[in-house]
Amino acid sequence: MESEKLLALDRELLWHPYTSMTNPLKCRQVVGARGTRLKLADGRELVDGMSSWWCAIHGYNHPRLNAAAKRQIDAFSHVMFGGLTHEPAVMLGQKLVRMAPKGLERVFLADSGSVSVEVALKMAIQYWRGRGINGKNALLTVRGGYHGDTFGAMSVCDPVNGMHHLFRGSLQEQFFAPRPACRFDSPFDPESLAPIRELAEKNRRRIAALIIEPVVQGAGGMWFYHPEYLKGLREICDELGILLIFDEIATGFGRTKKLFASQWAGVSPDIMCVGKALTGGYMTLAATLATKEVAEGVSSGGGVFMHGPTFMGNPLACAVALESLEILGEGKWEGDVARIEKGLRDGLLPLKGCEGVADARVLGAIGVIETQKPVNLEALQDFFVEKGVWIRPFSNLVYLMPPFMASEEDIGALTGAVGEALSRGLHL
Ligand SMILES: *Cc1c(COP(=O)(O)O)cnc(C)c1O
Repeated sequence: MESEKLLALDRELLWHPYTSMTNPLKCRQVVGARGTRLKLADGRELVDGMSSWWCAIHGYNHPRLNAAAKRQIDAFSHVMFGGLTHEPAVMLGQKLVRMAPKGLERVFLADSGSVSVEVALKMAIQYWRGRGINGKNALLTVRGGYHGDTFGAMSVCDPVNGMHHLFRGSLQEQFFAPRPACRFDSPFDPESLAPIRELAEKNRRRIAALIIEPVVQGAGGMWFYHPEYLKGLREICDELGILLIFDEIATGFGRTKKLFASQWAGVSPDIMCVGKALTGGYMTLAATLATKEVAEGVSSGGGVFMHGPTFMGNPLACAVALESLEILGEGKWEGDVARIEKGLRDGLLPLKGCEGVADARVLGAIGVIETQKPVNLEALQDFFVEKGVWIRPFSNLVYLMPPFMASEEDIGALTGAVGEALSRGLHL
């Protein structure tokens, strides 16, 4: 179909994320993608700075991921997981357990990040029921978090920039401590743990679990906080009988320079969610890992865990995920992420002094410019496409998280475009 016609039809029929159905933001047609390049219908090629929302860590059209998908599709694409199993799921489970922080030895394969968060929350609540302890139904979290768009996940997203006002009355009310105050790159201030400790102590009988994104808060504000904070949380949870859930959906699989962000603190949670980059960005798949202790609690007295998506353990997704983790296991990502970090530092940190810029920060393969005011998304997006890069800001954040195989030139093109946009004042 001719591109103009297709875009008109798209506009008429399809919802896109977080934009109006009747007056949506502009959309562009992709006709191909390879490595770090997205090819548009008009023939232009853009350097991808987003990894399709943290997912495409190995770049697009990866020969090994393609081959894994083709092998599996010729065997079988999907079978129900109730009463049936298959090699891709079992091998993936084994691989995840081997890679994960220690103690996480039981795996639930979910079909998206939000669902893996729902699964984690339900596991925590069922755990206490299974242990015969009643009344622990609520959750504790911090402000500035993002955990997905389903109801349970929304209830623990930031109450201000999340969707709480829109769904007031429909969301369970949870306990919110302030955003972890201590920056990643500042000396740790133990006082930053005081508010969450106080909330936890006061409400311990009602709190099933504490859920948090370790070290990097993603869609809630791209905030990097000090890993010592996580050690403090582990102590608080152990002391007060609260389960600890780490949402590694954005941070998992090398993005922060560690395989999992919790490794910055050397802390293992009781439950961990992964998703996004799990399949190298090929298709939707997520997983919720739990300790044996959690699994035994949920199942005690003959209890069963009450969740079972239709596409649970989808073989095609598991086969691609397995290959993606195989590639990660070969270790090249470490040098790649270090190279990207250097490029992002060189390109973005000097922009801290620009007018209208509140902060610039880089950790691993994540670079963030925080502006003083929310940016005009459409104007910036047009400028970036004009410059041959794909960067999608939100609110007051212009951020980069390119595929790990991005070259120095790719990073230079991305940071150069951001610098030029700021020097032209397009963010003001
Ligand atoms: C994206 C994200 C989710 C939700 O995952 P979906 O696959 O979009 O449902 C949950 N938590 C974090 C930290 C995320 O970044």
